[in-house]
Amino acid sequence: MSRRPYVAANWKMNKTASEADEFLDSFLPSQSADGPEVVLCPPWLALERVAGRCAGTPVRVAAQNMFYEDSGAFTGEVSAPMLLDIGVDGAVLGHSERRQFFGESDESLALKVPKAIEAGLEPILCVGESRAERESNDTEAVLSHQVLTDLAEVHSDDLGKVVIAYEPVWAIGTGLVATPEQAQEACEFIRNLLRTRDSERAGQVRILYGGSVKPDNAGELMALPDIDGALVGGAALDPADFGAIVAASSAG
Ligand code: PEP
Repeated sequence: MSRRPYVAANWKMNKTASEADEFLDSFLPSQSADGPEVVLCPPWLALERVAGRCAGTPVRVAAQNMFYEDSGAFTGEVSAPMLLDIGVDGAVLGHSERRQFFGESDESLALKVPKAIEAGLEPILCVGESRAERESNDTEAVLSHQVLTDLAEVHSDDLGKVVIAYEPVWAIGTGLVATPEQAQEACEFIRNLLRTRDSERAGQVRILYGGSVKPDNAGELMALPDIDGALVGGAALDPADFGAIVAASSAG
């Protein structure tokens, strides 16, 4: 089953709209439609600017979060129709920083993921174990709980619309990278979990690795059989570094 490589830039709480413009001035001209699928995930206030400038280019845009209701008394939240209205294509859901600092739960993700799909947004669902969970051999239990709970309400026919990012929490922003063996083992485990939902569509799901991906380690990770791309934080803030990761992913 061939899956188009997929590389996403998670800018987290970095870049004003004008700083995003500077990034795009440098990055957009290097992107072509025959490379990997490239998705930028800017913070809320740069989202409309980035979506506007990427319209008509091969680069797509995702939010870093989304709420599961369309509107109402939910102060501080942003809904799927609001994102669609400004030309956003997807949403990162369940990033470990949302889970760790903002109380994101698997129960709420079980509502957000199907909501995104129903609205026509591509969910990039993040899962991954902490260092303590890996050291106590709980990685598979954590991944099973997260994947099966968060996707529980996704219809099997829609499974191929989900992108999953395996991001071991201990590798995010730390400079520690999972070894190719650890990354492949976890991503293969996730794909086997998806097979328990739908064996055919499990083969369509893009599974990304995230955690200190840099230009010099991207190629090796992307070449692994169950890794179809990367979710990149720190190295995605620089257009040259992110461009080099995109280039390494096409070759992988
Ligand atoms: C992330 O933000 O999802 C991430 C993987 O960050 P970094 O690449 O900086 O580890």
